[in-house]
Amino acid sequence: MNKAKRKAVIAGNWKMNKTPAEAKTLIEGIKPLVKDAGCGVVCCVPYVDLSVVLEAAKGTNIGVGAENCHWEKSGAYTGEISAEMLASMGVQYVIIGHSERRQYFGETNETVNKRVRAALDAGLNVILCVGESLAQREQGITSELVALQTKIALGGVSKDELKRVIIAYEPIWAIGTGKTATSAQANEVCKTIRETVASIYDADAAEALTIQYGGSMKPGNAPELLAQPDVDGGLIGGASLKPDDFAAIVKAAD
Ligand code: PEP
Repeated sequence: MNKAKRKAVIAGNWKMNKTPAEAKTLIEGIKPLVKDAGCGVVCCVPYVDLSVVLEAAKGTNIGVGAENCHWEKSGAYTGEISAEMLASMGVQYVIIGHSERRQYFGETNETVNKRVRAALDAGLNVILCVGESLAQREQGITSELVALQTKIALGGVSKDELKRVIIAYEPIWAIGTGKTATSAQANEVCKTIRETVASIYDADAAEALTIQYGGSMKPGNAPELLAQPDVDGGLIGGASLKPDDFAAIVKAAD
């Protein structure tokens, strides 16, 4: 599999952090530091920050994303935001299936699949998250679980639509914990995801797919993780809130 054929993408996940005023300061801090990046750069931000971040990112190399979307276009779903609403604002990316959504908000593989479909139908690019808990890793079911999550999430997605999907492998035990998967562990699961995609589509589709690692990626561990043959970028939580750290990870991806 030829890594050079794929575009590395570093995406920040701001989670439930930053008021609009704070978001403006953060994006303005990131902008000059990543302007010459050779890789793709994306900031996924809270819904209320989208307008301000979209405005600040206009004309730059930074893509803007949301952190979730609903699968219906509109209707009686109090508190939800549709993919159409995001696309109409000029949002280009959306994270779907983040483990915090699965863990705290009852999202299932099936609802993740519906959201992926809706996002693609609205013209968005998807950052689809998959990953195992510590108990699942210790049970030795990581590969099967991640393959299943991938297969269900991509149900009904065509090979052409897959070009708008990035998969982020995020071991739950490494998210926000300071524990990072070793580069070998990260690569092994990213490789499993690529093989799964090859089994659903074909080798070309798998070879073209950008697969990120996410879980306590920092400037210190990014170079080794990003050098792995099947790791094509990172989904970055905590470090994406610090412009210098985020920019250092972007540089490591270059
Ligand atoms: C994430 O939220 O997707 C993530 C990887 O978080 P952190 O980098 O803080 O572990």
